[in-house]
Amino acid sequence: MFTHRDLAWFRCQLTENQTKDLLNSDLIILENIVFQTSIAGSLPKPAWLSETQKLWPQWKAEGDELLQAKADATLLWLKVQEDAGLDIVGDGEQSRQHFVHGFLEQVEGIDFEHKVTMGIRNNRYDAQVPQVIAPLRLKGRVHAFEAQLARAHTKKKLKFTLPGPLTIVDTVADRYYGSKVDMAMAFAELLNQEALALQADGVDIIQFDEPAFNVYMQDAANWGVKALEIAARGLTCTTAVHICYGYGIKANTDWKETLGGEWRQYAEIFPALAKSSIQQVSLECYHSHVPPDLMALLEGKDVMVGVIDVASDEVETPEQVADTIGKALQFVPKNRLIACTNCGLAPMSREIAVKKLQALADGAALARQRYGSAGAAA
Ligand SMILES: [Zn+2]
Repeated sequence: MFTHRDLAWFRCQLTENQTKDLLNSDLIILENIVFQTSIAGSLPKPAWLSETQKLWPQWKAEGDELLQAKADATLLWLKVQEDAGLDIVGDGEQSRQHFVHGFLEQVEGIDFEHKVTMGIRNNRYDAQVPQVIAPLRLKGRVHAFEAQLARAHTKKKLKFTLPGPLTIVDTVADRYYGSKVDMAMAFAELLNQEALALQADGVDIIQFDEPAFNVYMQDAANWGVKALEIAARGLTCTTAVHICYGYGIKANTDWKETLGGEWRQYAEIFPALAKSSIQQVSLECYHSHVPPDLMALLEGKDVMVGVIDVASDEVETPEQVADTIGKALQFVPKNRLIACTNCGLAPMSREIAVKKLQALADGAALARQRYGSAGAAA
């Protein structure tokens, strides 16, 4: 049986103390930077790893060869993010087929053999989903390989994403728990187990992705945030949640057309999040119809403001990015604003994604010139 340990040659040769020294020196510099930059999470997969521009792409290899290809793609994107000048980097979710099902594959109690078609995100689109048929338990580590690989190869702040409990329960069929809340809490415990292990791997920020919060606002406020806090229980690294209006696929852009001139979903969720222990919130801003003043509801949180549109192939100019940061500054203190993408870039063309990462970094640099350093008045 093949194990991740077989690829030990990927591990970098630094001693633990050398790694800590490097990380500390980098973090000290970061403290002084306003408008740090980060992606929401996913990046396009290279054509040699999987099908491209798809949400559920088929892998191009299997076994050791696939693992090697995932590792290569992870290293490639770390390099691209660093070259662009991003302050916080991630693995680009190169090792998972889909942001929810990547986690579920390591969960016992789920039948992946017999997937069923289910309308997800309140029937916005149909997906082939696995079924929960027995009590849920982790088979082992889920993301150790890519998290440890990324940590060994970057000195930048490392963010790692996991699906949130509410979004997971909206992406599987329940044949066992009989209650959405009970199943979400069971998933939250598993997420917590993996999150603690990711923290031990050296991840600096753990982000839970909850696009379903924007669809089931009442559930989100009533128990979704509580489930998130269970998933984040005991973490001493930074914790974050990403809430968006989805990838730039047709089903989502069609749905957005129905949401009217003002998207006020965040207004129902943010007050509960503001009271929670989650430290950072990632939201959509640029080209969305979210009233920017809703960001003021997140007082006390770091806000990852979406300054890059993932539903358009048009690459933002640094001026456009800096303008969006300027607008958000009316409602978010300077030292709490992180410039981010609206959502993941997974279904985009690789070439455009690279240009968008550069626009993100260049725009944040321009915003620093325009709006001053951390020490200046907000
Ligand atoms: Zn998203």
